[in-house]
Amino acid sequence: MSRIHNFSAGPAVLPLPVLQQASRDILEVQGTGLGILECSHRSAMFDEVIGGAISRLRSLLNLDDDQEVLFLHGGARTQFYQWPMNVLGGGRAAYLDTGNWARFAAEDAARYGQVDTLFSSQDTGYDRVPEQGSISVPSDALYLHYTSNNTVAGTQFDYVPDPGKSWLACDMSSDFLSRPVDGSKFDYLYAGAQKNVGPSGTTVVILRRRVLERCSEDLPRMLQYPVQVSKSSMLNTPCTFSIYVVSLVTKWIEERGGLGAIDAHNRAQAGKVYGAIDGSGFYSGKVSVGSRSLMNITFTTGDADLDTAFWKTAADEGISGLKGHRSVGGLRASIYNAQTDEAIDALVGFMAEFERRRG
Ligand SMILES: *Cc1c(COP(=O)(O)O)cnc(C)c1O
Repeated sequence: MSRIHNFSAGPAVLPLPVLQQASRDILEVQGTGLGILECSHRSAMFDEVIGGAISRLRSLLNLDDDQEVLFLHGGARTQFYQWPMNVLGGGRAAYLDTGNWARFAAEDAARYGQVDTLFSSQDTGYDRVPEQGSISVPSDALYLHYTSNNTVAGTQFDYVPDPGKSWLACDMSSDFLSRPVDGSKFDYLYAGAQKNVGPSGTTVVILRRRVLERCSEDLPRMLQYPVQVSKSSMLNTPCTFSIYVVSLVTKWIEERGGLGAIDAHNRAQAGKVYGAIDGSGFYSGKVSVGSRSLMNITFTTGDADLDTAFWKTAADEGISGLKGHRSVGGLRASIYNAQTDEAIDALVGFMAEFERRRG
């Protein structure tokens, strides 16, 4: 086996022990004589898998008893419309426009009510998130929606915005379980698994019960949150393998010492890469320093052709996934929870070497 260094933004690198366990369990899981891909979602074995994943998510995120944890289909993007479809009903909602994903979420919501965009950094290339305390949510907004980490631009909130009297809604796809977060602050929280906690195919959705009381019943059953809650995410066949890997990844997080330890590891890694950018006169970061993401580090040589040479040469040398998102160009290193220190050292070494050759 020769695994290269993977800086992809998602699906992304997963912990090696998790992959090893998963490959064994594909052939036979927990002495059942069946592989994980071949087991019924109604089996006792799968009950334990999904139950374990939910109870670890509850404890890692400090959830209250009145918060429900679901695993739904359709990726984070389905949440962009499923949520307003359920709760908005022509009312008002506040959105923070901090990146492509945040904007798409607001655009979908605008089909179901009035969207107030309280902040936008679109004009400056999504180079920042709002400063803490600078947002005030109108009292008639049902909820405030924000994107905690902007995967494409490379910015991240280092605080949880205050929604005032409104509900707090968050797309946490690309920094989910990457740092300690008080999940009990959120009325609605969702994350596609494929950035930080698993393969693609399932989305973790957390909903408070008071939200469920407001959900529309005039929707296809698959889209009704209360129905999904009453069926424990199994109105139809869920993405069993993806949920199973989330269950392994949450176990791995606990074994590493929980979210505090994960956060320390992530900060050390991000510090090395940002240090390499700031310490050179050759590379520059693409976003405001105070808004920098610990998950997706965006940078550039300032020259599009040189950027292309950078990620292509890196890929030839076994360091893959450094091409910036197609909508913004430049370079991006995604360093989610499972990123290895070897990969970080290889990247930092390559940056110095490329500067020496081409700078
Ligand atoms: C990747 C991503 C999405 C889209 O996720 P899908 O699961 O592919 O729909 C949405 N929001 C954020 C913040 C993302 O990083």
